Amino acid sequence: RGYSGTVKRSQLRLEGVKDVIAVASGKGGVGKSTTAGIFLLGLILFFSISFLFYINLAVALANKCQLRVGLLDADVYGPSVPMMMKIDRKPDITEDKKMIPIENYGVKCMSIGFLVEKDAPIVWRGPMVMSALAKMTRGVDWGNLDILVVDMPPGTGDAQLTMTQNLQLSGALIVSTPQDIALLDARRGANMFSKVGVPILGFVENMSFFKCPHCGEPSFIFGKEGARNAAASMGHDFIGEIPLEMEVRKGSDEGIPVVISAPDSAISKAYGGTAQNV
Ligand code: ADP
Repeated sequence: RGYSGTVKRSQLRLEGVKDVIAVASGKGGVGKSTTAGIFLLGLILFFSISFLFYINLAVALANKCQLRVGLLDADVYGPSVPMMMKIDRKPDITEDKKMIPIENYGVKCMSIGFLVEKDAPIVWRGPMVMSALAKMTRGVDWGNLDILVVDMPPGTGDAQLTMTQNLQLSGALIVSTPQDIALLDARRGANMFSKVGVPILGFVENMSFFKCPHCGEPSFIFGKEGARNAAASMGHDFIGEIPLEMEVRKGSDEGIPVVISAPDSAISKAYGGTAQNV
C-alpha cells in the first residue's frame, strides 16, 4: 500500500496560522524534536538579535521580532516536547471545546504528552492515532501564528500522511545525522513530502561532529558530510550542521533549550544561523 497517486496535498488552512513547517527525520533519535524546538527559539532569538545590531533594519524587522510561533508535537508514540519545553500540565479548554496551547519561552506548544500520564505507554491502534492527530491540529485554538512548526512522527506511514493531508504545509525541513542508516530514512521522508507536493526547505545535519573539549580536534562519529551530500544528490538545499554537544543534551533533559541557557555559545549561534537560512 503506497501513497502514490492517491494522496493529495491538503488545501485546508489552519485558521489564523500563516505558515506550517514540518520538521521530519524518517528515523527516530536523530535530533528532530531538538531541532524543531530550538529552531523555533533560534528564529525568535535571531530576529531579536538582528534587531539589536542592525538598527537600520528596525522597521523591516519590527514585525519579525514579534514572530508568533507554535510547536505541535505530532510524535504521538514518543512525545518529547513536554520535557524539552518544561511543560507539566494539561491544556485548558475553550467554550467551544478547543484546547488552548501552553506557552513557554514564547512558543505556544501542544503535545499528546500533555494529555497522558508521564510514564504511561501509548498503545494505540491506527484510528486512535489519527483521531488524536486530528484533535491536536484542528481541535486547538492556535490563535494568530506566523509559523507553526510540526515535530513529525518518525517514518512514512499513515500518521505522517494524515498530517500532510490535514495541514497545508508550506514546507518540510529534513533532519538527519550523517550516518548512512539515518540518511536512508531521511531520503524516504523527503521523497514522501515531494510526492505530495510539499516543498523541501532543506536538510539539517545534526550530530555532525564532536569537538574534543581538551584538544579541540573534531571527530566525525556518525560519518562526514552525509546529509550535505544526500541533499546535493537529491537537488535540495543544505541548511547547516549542528555538532554533538553536551549542552544540547543537558538542555533537552532539563527543559531549558540551549539557546536560552547559553545564548552566546557557538552552538546557539549554529541554531540561530540555521533559522536564518530557512
Ligand atoms: P528525535 O526527535 O529525532 O527522536 P530527539 O530530538 O528527541 O530525536 O533527540 C534524541 C536525543 O539526542 C535527545 O536526548 C537529545 O537531547 C539528544 N540530542 C539531539 N541533538 C543533539 C546534539 N546536537 N548534541 C547532543 N545531544 C543531542
